[in-house]
Amino acid sequence: MTARSGRLAVYDAPGAPFAVRSFPLRPPRPGEVLVKVRMSTICRSDIPSYLGHRPSPCPGVLGHEIIGTIAELGEGVTADMRGDPLAAGDRITWSEYFIPGPSYFTDVLDLPQKAPGVEKYGHMAVTRDPHHHGGFGEHCYVLPRSWILKLPAELTDEEATPINCGVATMVGVCGRAGIGVGETVVVQGLGLLGLYGAAIAKARGARLVVGLDTVAARRELGARFGVDHALDPAALGEDDLVREVRALCRPAGADAVIEVCGDPAVIPSGLRFLRTGGRYVLAGVVNPGAFVRVDANLVLRELVTLVGVHNYHPRHLIEELEFVVANRARFRFHDLVDGTYGLEDVDRAMKDAAARHVLRAAIVP
Ligand SMILES: [Zn+2]
Repeated sequence: MTARSGRLAVYDAPGAPFAVRSFPLRPPRPGEVLVKVRMSTICRSDIPSYLGHRPSPCPGVLGHEIIGTIAELGEGVTADMRGDPLAAGDRITWSEYFIPGPSYFTDVLDLPQKAPGVEKYGHMAVTRDPHHHGGFGEHCYVLPRSWILKLPAELTDEEATPINCGVATMVGVCGRAGIGVGETVVVQGLGLLGLYGAAIAKARGARLVVGLDTVAARRELGARFGVDHALDPAALGEDDLVREVRALCRPAGADAVIEVCGDPAVIPSGLRFLRTGGRYVLAGVVNPGAFVRVDANLVLRELVTLVGVHNYHPRHLIEELEFVVANRARFRFHDLVDGTYGLEDVDRAMKDAAARHVLRAAIVP
């Protein structure tokens, strides 16, 4: 054991300020790995969790986009999910979730990410053993039945940290959208997910990506990540926006639309961007109560495929890692983590993230 206790940034109630407190460390149990956290980035979903808009027990420790170096391996953990051997000092990422064990969802439906009892890092009360199960701290235990992946040395921490949530999700999203060579894609929301989505769409052969965001800086950034045309949806009425997007997505409308902005109000226009037979993937409206009024007849008549993506399959973690390795020279993913904060500065980091002053705030303990 390197240390007997470690510090965590915890909050006692929804929206309450973060306080740095020490909690005991114990040797990892069989199947666990004790990790020294290198970096944790603030996912957009951390904000509603923190504010209590989605269930997250208190006193809580947040952060599920995490990377770290192995401090100690529990009994039985010898290799990562690809079979590469693991040792103390290795830099790793791991699935944002862990599952309780075999289940119908895991073994028959091949949906481990939605298995009953699935739990996520950064979504548990800090009072629960082993205390260190979120990213905003010095240590984290990787718990049994998580999927671990060793990180290649060439990736920077900034490239590697968002992989296990936002970025792996986008591999799943673009897969479900079925984006193919020569297609046209519309991305609603140019945060980190949308920018990665544009880059993945281009890597899959899309000929045109249209990005929509109300933040000018994000529209500008889009060009560096595969966005060919960036539009401000707030500057146009819905009819004009639909007309403009469809004119770009010649000849018949977009082949695929991806929603990653989290606002259900964009869904009616998203449906109208599509060509007949197009695909629409929802991945941003993660909070309950995302009600919206749509003409279901449009879905039927236009042969629209409408799908949701939440969490991701463990294989997406590998696919995403390899995508970032293969495309890091073409797209400067490193730059998307554009703010670094210490453990004492989590309040400021959360405020900057909520105000969209930064794309991805990183906590470096
Ligand atoms: Zn996340």
